Amino acid sequence: MRGGPRRHRPADEGRRGPMSATVYRQAPPATLRGVAVPALDDEALFDVTTEDGVFTRIEPSGTRHGGETELWPGYTETHAHVSLPANWDDTVDDPRIVALQYLYHGVTHVVDMFGFPLVSDAWEAGSRTSPWPYPEIAHCGYAVTAMTNAAGLRGHGVEFPAPVHMLAVEADLDHALRTNSERGGTFLKVMFTDGTEQPGTPVRFSRLSERVLKFTARIAAERGITAVIDCNTLQETLWAYDCGFRLFAHSVRDRTLDAADWKRLEGARFVSTLAGLSPMVMTREEFLADYGREGFAETQDRGNLDFVEGIEKPFGIEYGCQETRTAALADMRRNALTALRHGNLLVGTDSGNTGAYHGYSLLSELELLRGDDASVTEALRRQATVGGRRYFDELRGDTSGAGPLRPGAQATYNLHAPGRPLTALPLSTVVQGVPVDRPAVARAIADLRATESKGKVAL
Ligand SMILES: [Zn+2]
Repeated sequence: MRGGPRRHRPADEGRRGPMSATVYRQAPPATLRGVAVPALDDEALFDVTTEDGVFTRIEPSGTRHGGETELWPGYTETHAHVSLPANWDDTVDDPRIVALQYLYHGVTHVVDMFGFPLVSDAWEAGSRTSPWPYPEIAHCGYAVTAMTNAAGLRGHGVEFPAPVHMLAVEADLDHALRTNSERGGTFLKVMFTDGTEQPGTPVRFSRLSERVLKFTARIAAERGITAVIDCNTLQETLWAYDCGFRLFAHSVRDRTLDAADWKRLEGARFVSTLAGLSPMVMTREEFLADYGREGFAETQDRGNLDFVEGIEKPFGIEYGCQETRTAALADMRRNALTALRHGNLLVGTDSGNTGAYHGYSLLSELELLRGDDASVTEALRRQATVGGRRYFDELRGDTSGAGPLRPGAQATYNLHAPGRPLTALPLSTVVQGVPVDRPAVARAIADLRATESKGKVAL
C-alpha cells in the first residue's frame, strides 16, 4: 500500500477544554502495508502499525522489488539558529512560523546552535495550541566565545543579535554552563574560529586561548556535556582536536583534507553547512532557481523572492570574497563527503543565517552535498535521518542508542517516493502519529503573516 495514515478533520475548537490546551489531531490505529524501511533492512518490506502516537508493530512482510514507498525517520536539522534573522530584510519569523516551516519539509528534530532561549517562551506557547506536534528541539542555550582582544577584535558570535557568554578565565565557564542549563540547554557550543576562510583571507575574530580551550573540553567531558566547536580552518580544527574536541560545527573550509589529515582527526565528526554559506556567492538566476522549488512560496516570506530578483551581482563580488568563498564551499563539500564515507557527517545548514531558511534549506543542503554524485544519495538520506537523530538524542543526553524505528518509539516519520530528488518534499510527514496536513500548514503560516506583526518577532 502506498500513502500515509488517513487524513483527519481539524480539531473541533469547541472541544478544547481549559485543562487540555494541546489538541493534536490524533490518528486512529493505522497500518502501512508493504513499505520499505531501508534504515532497518534494505531488502525487506514491512507492515508498520501506529497507535496512540507510537509504533506498535514493525514487521517484515515481504521482499523489496524496488519502487516501493520508503519510510524513514523524520529529518534532523543538526545546525540551526531558530532566533536569528534568515530573511534578507533581517527580520526574524515568528517561532510559530518557524516550527511549521520545519514540519512542512519533513524536519521533525532541530538542533539549535545558540540563541533559542530568546524565543523559547513563544515556541512553547505556540506548541500548546498547534494542531500538529512541533519539531523536537535540542539547544545549547547560548554559545561561549572569546573576549575582545588587544587588537580590538571580538569573539565570533557576538556580531549576531543573540547573546553569547564571553570566557576570559576558566571560572567563567561554570557560570555559562549553569545559566545555559537553567535555560534548558543540554550541550555546549564553543565559538573558536578567527574567521579566516581560505589562505590569506582576513582575521576577523578573537580566539579563546589554548588554556581556556583545554579547560573547556575537559570540564564538559567531566560533566558529561557534549561540546560542539565552531572552526573554519584545518589548523583551528587540529588545535581544537588536540585540546579534546571531537565535534565540529562545520567541515574544514581552507583545504581539502588528505589521508594523513583524516588520520590525525580520527573519530572527529563534522556538520555540513553549505546552504548557510552559499547565499553569499549565488547569482540572481541561482537564487531564483533555488527559491522556485516546491515549498518556498508556501512557507517563506515572499519578500525574499522580491529581494533576490533585484540582485545584480553576487554579494561575494561586492564584498571581495567571491573567489575565496566559492573555493571554501568546494573544500567544505569535498571534506563533508569524505566525512560521509567515514560515517562521520551530520547534515545541517546554519539556518537562521541570511538566506538559509528553516526547513527549506535542509533539502537544499542535501542537494548541494549530492551535487552530481548520485552514488551518495542514500547515504545522505540515512545521515540526515538516522544519523541526525542519533546525534540529536546524544545532545539531549540520551545515550541509550535506542533507534527511532521500533515498537514503542514515537511514530514520527516521512514517507518518500524512491528515485525523486533529495530536494523533493516527502510524500507525507507524520509526527507522533499526527499527519502533517501541508495545505493546512501553509494556510496557518499565511494567517500568521496576515496579522499586525506580519508574522515577525522583535527580539
Ligand atoms: Zn551557526
